[in-house]
Order: sequence, then structure tokens, then C-alpha cells
Amino acid sequence: MPRDRLSPTRTLRRPQDLADHGLIAPDALPALEQVAAQFAVAVTPAMADRINPADVNDPVGRQFLPDARELDIQPAELADPIGDEPFTPVKGITHRYHDRVLLKPVHACPVYCRFCFRREMVGPGSEALDEAELEAALAYIAGNPQIWEVILTGGDPMILSPRRMGDLIARLNAIPHLGLVRIHTRVPVVDPDRIDAEMVAALKGARIPTWIMLHSNHWQELGPDQVAAIGRLVDAGLPMLAQTVLLRGLNDDVATLTRTFRALISARVKPHYLHHGDLAKGTAHFRTSIAEGRALMRELRGDVSGICQPTYVLDIPGGHGKVPLGQDYLTQDGDDAWIVEDPRGQRHPYKG
Ligand SMILES: *Cc1c(COP(=O)(O)O)cnc(C)c1O
Ligand code: SF4
Repeated sequence: MPRDRLSPTRTLRRPQDLADHGLIAPDALPALEQVAAQFAVAVTPAMADRINPADVNDPVGRQFLPDARELDIQPAELADPIGDEPFTPVKGITHRYHDRVLLKPVHACPVYCRFCFRREMVGPGSEALDEAELEAALAYIAGNPQIWEVILTGGDPMILSPRRMGDLIARLNAIPHLGLVRIHTRVPVVDPDRIDAEMVAALKGARIPTWIMLHSNHWQELGPDQVAAIGRLVDAGLPMLAQTVLLRGLNDDVATLTRTFRALISARVKPHYLHHGDLAKGTAHFRTSIAEGRALMRELRGDVSGICQPTYVLDIPGGHGKVPLGQDYLTQDGDDAWIVEDPRGQRHPYKG
């Protein structure tokens, strides 16, 4: 990307820093100071480098640069849009589904996404679990043998040092009924240098696999440094999936989604979920309608490689879980009789 400004050497956290680096207009500062007082701001050097500041609609900039529209909070928007709170048996654990729990060892992230569904919970002031709290969370997992999978999330768990990450992975590997550790992270994209040999070694479990779920929303995020960081993880035998958030004006068109999902597959990451935007506060300008999301998925089906296609899902507000929202290609037409629609919209009878 052509650059005519100083590349930052550290994470930018104040609107003034963003203005100093030419990422926001100085006359926007008063409104953006107000945004930053409410919702945390952080842009890593790796992401600042992938923003073209001449483009007000830059798809990387829009994800991380504060926007005055965040001050517009709609009545339907919620502080806890996916309803984690009622499913928190001990601090740091969310247990909503039978066989898996979320474990949130930290509440900070290397970047703060402007559409974050946990934006009221994450931020630099939010504390990590202390040793006693982490022990209590691990005791909860050890005491519930139906739990097969632990999903490390937060915040972004990959901000842990390799030493602490290795210790946590080892303690999870020692719980006999666990079969899988999954890590939800943006780090390979937003701070690829963190994925060094020490971190890769720390992530590998002695007994059970570690799968990485990368959060990535646009091909422009995925430059050579990002692809190399992903490569270090995959080469070490850590399988990778991606979740993408459908974001208005940013990736809500077939060409962008196609290029993004292809870029992920080329980097050896399987697109898994496309999330419908959650009802987080001050994010109305990012949300599409469900009808628009379904129409996009319908256009992808048939024209784009099947392995490039994630499942379009909604996390039902109130903690009722995630469900697929995609097109239904099947209608019943009597006992064991069906009409199946093909990707072009033509209908075909099927018996069975
Ligand atoms: C999203 C989520 C999961 C993971 O769900 P998958 O469909 O397995 O990806 C688990 N627990 C909670 C509370 C979640 O919100
Ligand atoms: S990295 Fe995840 S948890 Fe952190 S701000 Fe972005 S969406 Fe929210």
C-alpha cells in the first residue's frame, strides 16, 4: 500500500495519536474523543499499515478507527447482545451449550473493533483472571465431565505471553475428559509478530489438539506478514478456521466476500461462520438486514468453491444460541416427497 506518512511503532490508543499519524482528520477530534471515552480504541502498527487514509471507507480503517456514528445508540441495542451474563457459573466461564464452555482468561485485545459484540466488557481497564480465579474456572471445567471442548476467548487470549499460554494449554490438557481446545483470536492478523516460535510451541497441546479460530473480515487485512504468521501456525499442525462478521459497506457484497474467503483458503484457513451483526451499542451503521445477508449467501452458492463458503449464523439475542440463517433449498411435497431448489433457482422433485 502506498504510504506517505510515518509508520507507527506502537499501538495507537488515543484519537490524538490517530490524528498525528494521519489516520483521522483533526477536525473530527472532539467527536472522536467522546467515542473513545465510551468505547476503547487501539490500532496496532500492523493494522495501521494496512489502512489507506485517503479512503474514508477504507475496509481496515472502518474496523478500527473510531466513528462519530458510534454515539448513536439505538433502543434495540444491548450491553450484552449475545447474553453471556446469565450463563456464567464462575468468573471467566460461559457455559451455554452442553459440551463446550468459553474460558476468558483476559478481557483486553490488541485492537478494538468498532462493531465488537463484547464492547462493554472488553477494554484496557478490564482485568485478566488472577491465579485464584483461573484455578476456580479450571476446577469448574474439571468438575463437569460433559465438557468436551474449551474455547479460549475474551478479549483476545493470544495477548497472553507464550509462557502463560503454554501453562494454560498444559493445564487444559491435564483434564482427562477434554478432547479439544479452540482459541478465538485476531492476533495472527492484527499483530502477526506475536506468532513466533515460542508462541507456536506454547499452543501445541501434549494430548489434545488446539484449533485456532481466526477472526478476519476483509482480504485487505491479509498481507504478506499475516499470511506468514498463519503459515507458521498451520505448518506446526494447528488447524485453522475463520469467522467473519458481515459488515455494511465493508464486506457486504459478493465480490468482497468471494475475495475474502478465497484469501483465507489460500492462506489455509477454512471460513467457518459468517456472523450476522450483533445488536451491540452504537453499531447500527455496521448492520445489514437478514434478507441482504441471505441474498449474498445465495449468490455465493454455486458460483464460488464450496470450501470458500461459511455458514451464515445469528447469535439470538438473550443467550438463546447460534443458528444458521441461510437459504433453505428444500420444501416438503407429501410423504417422502420433496422439492429441491438448485443454485440457479430451478426446482426439482426428489423422492426419499
Ligand atoms: C459461540 C459460542 C460457542 C461456540 O459455538 P460453536 O457453534 O461451537 O462455534 C460456545 N459457547 C458460547 C457461549 C458461544 O457464544
Ligand atoms: S478482537 Fe474480538 S473481542 Fe476484541 S474488540 Fe475485536 S471483536 Fe471484540
